[in-house]
Amino acid sequence: MKLDHLNWDEYYMAMAKMTAIRSKDPNSQVGAVIVGEDNKVLSIGYNGAPIGFNDKDFPWAREGEYLKTKYPFVCHAEMNAISNYRGNKKDFDGAKVYVTLFPCNECAKLIIQNGIKEVIYSCDKYKDTDGVKASKMMFDICGVNYRAFNSKVEISIKEGEKSAEFKRLDTPVKMLKRNK
Ligand SMILES: [Zn+2]
Repeated sequence: MKLDHLNWDEYYMAMAKMTAIRSKDPNSQVGAVIVGEDNKVLSIGYNGAPIGFNDKDFPWAREGEYLKTKYPFVCHAEMNAISNYRGNKKDFDGAKVYVTLFPCNECAKLIIQNGIKEVIYSCDKYKDTDGVKASKMMFDICGVNYRAFNSKVEISIKEGEKSAEFKRLDTPVKMLKRNK
């Protein structure tokens, strides 16, 4: 039987999800992968402390005095993916970004100003907040497409194994029978 393979959306969303688990934020792990027009990865990022801000000293709290919470300091996945890029930013023209969580309004502005034209997101749990509403308003006005994508694949990577395996969770029963 011919080996099945991940399609582009599955591949890049899986990459974003794997990148997210690099984050040291105890409450929220977000990943972003910027992909150029030719379907090549340009940059990757996850949410974390600014460079030079020691992780141990970083306030990850979500409540309390503003300056003792993460909010004024944390760098979001999209911001880091854009900032991490060391190539020519013209490469971002017409690029896509895969994100595990819908971008906040600050990251939405960075996405727009850097010429990224499509956002593919997995989770939109803050859709009722003014921040995410502002993101969508800006994307609509400025011509950035956004669409939901929830991969229905299960990928297992085992240390020391030759390669990873994946299983399509939404494969219709009919197809399974035919392949037998
Ligand atoms: Zn953000």
